[in-house]
Amino acid sequence: MNDKKRYLRLKNLKEFGVDITWENLFSKTVLFAGVGGVGSIAAEMFARCGIGKMILIDLDIVEEVNLNRLFYTQENIGKPKVEVAKEILTKINRDVEIETYHSDICAIDFEEKFEQLIKESDLVISSLDNIPARLYINEKCVQLRKEYIDSGASRSGLGGYVHLVIPFKTACYQCTGSIDLGEKKHGEPCTASLPSTIAIIASLTVEIALKHLLNFGVIPDYIGFNALTDQYIIQKMNRDPSCYICGERKTNLKEQRKSLQEIDELTEGKTVDELIQNLDSHEK
Ligand SMILES: [Zn+2]
Repeated sequence: MNDKKRYLRLKNLKEFGVDITWENLFSKTVLFAGVGGVGSIAAEMFARCGIGKMILIDLDIVEEVNLNRLFYTQENIGKPKVEVAKEILTKINRDVEIETYHSDICAIDFEEKFEQLIKESDLVISSLDNIPARLYINEKCVQLRKEYIDSGASRSGLGGYVHLVIPFKTACYQCTGSIDLGEKKHGEPCTASLPSTIAIIASLTVEIALKHLLNFGVIPDYIGFNALTDQYIIQKMNRDPSCYICGERKTNLKEQRKSLQEIDELTEGKTVDELIQNLDSHEK
């Protein structure tokens, strides 16, 4: 696909002082954790740029409430987002290899596969709509020393952020809890959403990802965006030395989770109240 005219104007960046070899992108793999509002638009841009391979993971199906954003259409309602995304992205650029997983990223039986997929990728883009999943991806990427971009829109739809995590070099997602970003950390399910805000966040995500993958330009650690004031905040993100994921106090969370799972199996998934009730009935 190297000689196609479709990449001509991307390669022409070189004429404006950007010293890059666009073809390097053709052998790169990007893993998308979530193809919702931000992830789907970012994936479309990567397809148009000619990324070699995209791995899409998302458990959601397309719902009517998603249609205020870009990418998905009315005909897609009720279908898994990853399957629809693959169909659309292949229509945009059939040369891009697309692998999909209609899976819960945090599921224990997906953990081994997820780790393998992270290792296969050059970059992970996390744009899921819940904080526990973001923390899980952060933990995995830091442990596997994989660079990743965490990006998302705020619940109000009026802001968002893009945060490049270089494990053990810049702050990880967990570290941001101790950094004053001027507003509450984003990443929760949105209550309101503006297609314009989401497109801005997706664009910033792809811009930073391209600069990182092709090694050009200045890459900020963190960009925050406020749609009401049209302000961008660029911030340096130093690691928190006491972070338990990437700092000195880091612990083996996999072992901790395994212990919790073992406890759950021993107690057959019963709640504490149910266990006390069982004890009471044994004593009687
Ligand atoms: Zn950290």
